[in-house]
Amino acid sequence: MLVVQAPLQRFTFTGEAKAMGEQAPFTIEQFYKNMLEGKLLGGKCKKCGKVHLPPRPLCSNCFSKKFEWTELPQKGKLLTYTVIHVAPPQFQGMAPYAVGIVQLENGVNIPGMIRGVALEQIRIGMPLTLDFGTCTTTQPWPQWPRYYFKPM
Ligand SMILES: [Zn+2]
Repeated sequence: MLVVQAPLQRFTFTGEAKAMGEQAPFTIEQFYKNMLEGKLLGGKCKKCGKVHLPPRPLCSNCFSKKFEWTELPQKGKLLTYTVIHVAPPQFQGMAPYAVGIVQLENGVNIPGMIRGVALEQIRIGMPLTLDFGTCTTTQPWPQWPRYYFKPM
């Protein structure tokens, strides 16, 4: 029996991924590690084809646990957004900032921070492109690279 220390809100999926051998685990950590290589990868359900972003251990459509990594386009358009004035402590230094839902070119929606544009110039439907940056929070958490969206 393996004992794993799992922080709260951590998505872990190790059992079947290990059984399959080659596939990296479908975790948030792996999701961020892929970003270190400049890749946006989602977990694609092998049964119904639904792409989950960030990856999750169970398909929300068909409840399958079989996934494969799939590379996603890094361009899309803004579906909706909100401006955050009162942020969690680790992001308070960046407030106010905008967080939006971006629809990628393949139709997958992804949440993310919007940077590189004045808040009053953000428009629904504007084209955005993904960019990667190192997390600048002061949290004592490993500095996972993060992504954000910026105007094209
Ligand atoms: Zn599915």
